[in-house]
Amino acid sequence: MTANRAFYQTFNLIPEKLENRPFYELGEGELNIPKFRNLLKKVLKRGVSFNNFEIEYHIPKKGKRILLINARKFYRQINSTQTILLAIEDITKAKNYDKQKDEFSSIIMHELKTPVSTISGYLQLLQGHLSKRGDKKLLNYTDNMSVQIVRLTSLINGLLNSSKIRAVGFDYQEGIFDINELTTETIEDIQKTCETHRITQEGKVVGYVKGDRERIAQVLINLLINAIRYSPNANKVVVRTSVKNNKVIIGVEDFGIGISRINQKKVFERFFRLNGSNKETFYGLGLGLDISSQIVHYHKGRIWVESTQGKGSSFNFLLPIHQT
Ligand code: ADP
Repeated sequence: MTANRAFYQTFNLIPEKLENRPFYELGEGELNIPKFRNLLKKVLKRGVSFNNFEIEYHIPKKGKRILLINARKFYRQINSTQTILLAIEDITKAKNYDKQKDEFSSIIMHELKTPVSTISGYLQLLQGHLSKRGDKKLLNYTDNMSVQIVRLTSLINGLLNSSKIRAVGFDYQEGIFDINELTTETIEDIQKTCETHRITQEGKVVGYVKGDRERIAQVLINLLINAIRYSPNANKVVVRTSVKNNKVIIGVEDFGIGISRINQKKVFERFFRLNGSNKETFYGLGLGLDISSQIVHYHKGRIWVESTQGKGSSFNFLLPIHQT
């Protein structure tokens, strides 16, 4: 019945021309909204709300747009009527931007892969020659180069993984696994590669999760590696597991640089990176948490962070327990 100015602008409508007609009756050339109408019907009939519903919509003179819709039904006591509040956002630009990022990463990845593997091949040849000659000094240089090439390759593979996920979705192997076993095993694996921090586990959950064991392990690995990397002056990381309302919660707590409140939400965005307050730079691409959050959401879970800048962070994720 009423709308704000942004609504008129988004849909190219002139308020005076509407002559008090309900919006959902508007026809071709004005606001042809069969999809909206269906949505409203659904909201009226069934639940009380619709969250983050994406539709493609042709707006006269503007063309195809992608709209994000949230709808909520509520009861107005004043005149005893059912009312629906619709929030509509034109997310076409953001969506296109995301697509461009995907294209960009896949171009970079392809362009970089070949020269990097060629360099790596020549480097191995060179190392062979140098070790025959017994040139320790030069071998030391080439060893350092090797380490950097391995790093570069893993960055490229990270990009490859990430753009692949968006393009075709992850390959998930379905199974049922013991979450406690997975946590303990993963901690042991990471502990083997880390001499600076002691990783301890608190709490033990008896429960099974349905999904891809390797992918969930990947989430925990990402969080553990971050916890270690972003707490260079600490010597421990604590993993806590617990159960609440048929959900298992796994939290990884570090005592490191922490994240300011404003950046806490952003860290899960793709390519988002921060440097430490004392300008330490950590290498990375800002992909780990984006990938982790995609995996957790696929398993109908949730991932979030609690943090105090300068004191440390706790990254937590929650997964539904499989009922047998
Ligand atoms: P990467 O670590 O490769 O940059 P991530 O997606 O894993 O990518 O993390 C994104 C950003 O979030 C990091 O650059 C870092 O600034 C911040 N971050 C992640 N984990 C932590 C942590 N445990 N403590 C502080 N900052 C963190």
